[in-house]
Amino acid sequence: MMPELPEVETIRRDLLKALKDEEIKAIGVYDLKALEGISQDEASHLWQGKRITDIKRRGKYLLFELLEGSFVVHLRMTGKLLVVPLESEVRYQRVRFVFSDKALVFADVRRFGRIYALGLSALDRLGPEPLEEEFTAQYLESILQKSGRPIKTFLLDQNNVAGLGNIYVDEALFMAKIHPLRPAKSLRTGEVKELVDAIKIVLDRAISLRGTSFSDYRDGFDKKGSFQEHLSVYGRAGEPCIRCGRVLEKIRVGGRSTVFCYSCQKGD
Ligand SMILES: [Zn+2]
Repeated sequence: MMPELPEVETIRRDLLKALKDEEIKAIGVYDLKALEGISQDEASHLWQGKRITDIKRRGKYLLFELLEGSFVVHLRMTGKLLVVPLESEVRYQRVRFVFSDKALVFADVRRFGRIYALGLSALDRLGPEPLEEEFTAQYLESILQKSGRPIKTFLLDQNNVAGLGNIYVDEALFMAKIHPLRPAKSLRTGEVKELVDAIKIVLDRAISLRGTSFSDYRDGFDKKGSFQEHLSVYGRAGEPCIRCGRVLEKIRVGGRSTVFCYSCQKGD
């Protein structure tokens, strides 16, 4: 399960508290594959001796702004960013940023996560942030009309809206009572409005509960979130719908496992 917007946002807030104004004293690279397109020497040259001025999020990406320069991290499936005491060992450590009295470790069991020597402008192609004012029913309706893809697949496309993944798309579609296989352009104006509201509500709730932890996701201090205790459909196939009591169904949409209620979520 990949960290989505609420999990990445939780990590961002934790890391900003722990690392703002801290200077990177040294960088240890234990897996060259973790650095996309740069060598260890280049990483040291670019980032060593630089102070972290801010940490931002765009979709599922974290952007570390330095006094000069920046880098971007994508955790993918199992990546973690953990603030630890200087001497502590971390399993599956791939990159370690050393500060005066602590370290930031990028650990990753499955090794899909990446660190890029990029700035925020590299992420311009991403769709709008769903919790920002720019993500409106008018915006969503204007792009939905051009797509015959299932609404679930459409919402997972980071170019349409940034930061949603399997968990929060299933939860939002359930809340808005929309069948995941509905062609995007078949949604009526009222449904689009419901969907935009549902996406914002689900994401806000998940952030306030510090994200969803099933297996791998941990916050910046290696603690679990608790939104998994409040999920309506994700991970609940075969269990009763909280709204109508019917058993929740599991199907595949665009290769992704999808849970929904056949009674509550309208097919047309
Ligand atoms: Zn139901």
